[in-house]
Amino acid sequence: MKKVSILIPCFNEQESLPLMYDALCNLTKEPHALEYEWEFLFINDGSKDRTIDILRSLHNSDSRVNYIDLSRNFGKENAMLAGFDYVTGDCTVIMDADLQHPPIVALDMLSKWEEGYEDVYAKRRTRGKEPWLRKKLSLLFYKVLNKMSQVEMLQNVGDFRLLDRRCVEALRKMRESERYTKGLFCWIGYKKAYVEFDSGDRVAGETSWNMWKLFKFATKGVISFSTSPLHLATWLGLLVSAVAFIYMLFVLVKTIIFGDPVAGFPTLLCVILLLGGIQLLCIGIIGEYVALMFNETKKRPVYLVREHNGELE
Ligand code: UDP
Ligand code: MG
Repeated sequence: MKKVSILIPCFNEQESLPLMYDALCNLTKEPHALEYEWEFLFINDGSKDRTIDILRSLHNSDSRVNYIDLSRNFGKENAMLAGFDYVTGDCTVIMDADLQHPPIVALDMLSKWEEGYEDVYAKRRTRGKEPWLRKKLSLLFYKVLNKMSQVEMLQNVGDFRLLDRRCVEALRKMRESERYTKGLFCWIGYKKAYVEFDSGDRVAGETSWNMWKLFKFATKGVISFSTSPLHLATWLGLLVSAVAFIYMLFVLVKTIIFGDPVAGFPTLLCVILLLGGIQLLCIGIIGEYVALMFNETKKRPVYLVREHNGELE
C-alpha cells in the first residue's frame, strides 16, 4: 500500500485545527482514499496559542497524526522544509491549516500522481476574498519576476501541491536559509501537472500576512531567483553616463559658439540629486545581495525542533 503524507504548517491555528482534522478524516473515508495509507504531519511553527496542545491530543488519539514542534516561529517556508525532513510518505501533499486548500482536491492530485506526474500543483480558479490591491499587486509581481528570472514562476499557484518522494528529496537538498519555496518548486523541474480548485476563505483565525510582509517576501523572491537587478544597476549607470556626456558636449558647444555664460544653479541641483538617488539605489541593490550572502554564509540551521511526537529532540 502506498503511503500519502499530508504536510500542514500551523501558526496560531487553534480555531482551524479541529475543522481541518475533521476534513482530513472525511477525505480518508472517500472510497478512492481507502487504497492508501495516510499520515498527517503537522508542523507547529512556534504558535502562541493552544495549537500544540491540540496537536498532542490528536496524536494521542489517532496514530496517523504526527507533529513537530519548532523551537520558535521560523516562518512558513522553513516550517515546510522541516516537514520535508520528517515526512515518510511515498508522496506528500502540502496544505494550509485554514482550509483555504480544500483537502478533497488531494484525490484529484493522487490520480494525476498515479498517471506518473511527480509534481501536481493546484491552480486557483478563483482567489476567494482578498483585497483588490493585493490581487493586482500579486499579478504584477509574477509578471516582473518572470521577466527577470530564468525559471518560470506560475501565477495563481501557491504551496498547495502533491510532491513525489523524488521532489521531496530534491527540496531537502536545498538548505538555503532565505527560502522562497514557490521558486524552488519550479527550479527542481520534474514532470508537472495541475488540477484546478476554488480557493475558499479562511475558516477561522487571522491571516498572518500583511502588505508589508508580502512586499518583503516578493523582494526575497526576486533577489534569490534573479540577478537582473544587478545588471539593471550596470545599465542604468551606463545610460546616465551617456546622457551626461552628451549634455556636456551640448554645454561646451553652446558656450564656445554662442558665448553663453553657463548659468543654471537649479539644473545643477537637479542633476546632483538625480545622480545621488540613482547611486544610492544601485548601492541598495548590491546591498540586498550582500545581505542575502551574509545570511547564507552563516550556514545556520534553517529550523530547530523542540519536540517530535511527544519526545524532546
Ligand atoms: N504559517 C506558518 N508560519 C507562519 C505563518 C503562517 O506555518 O509564520 C502557516 C499558517 O498556519 C497556514 C499557512 O501557513 O497554515 C498559510 O498562512 P496564512 O493562511 O496566514 O496565509 P494566507 O493564506 O493568507 O496566504
Ligand atoms: Mg490562509
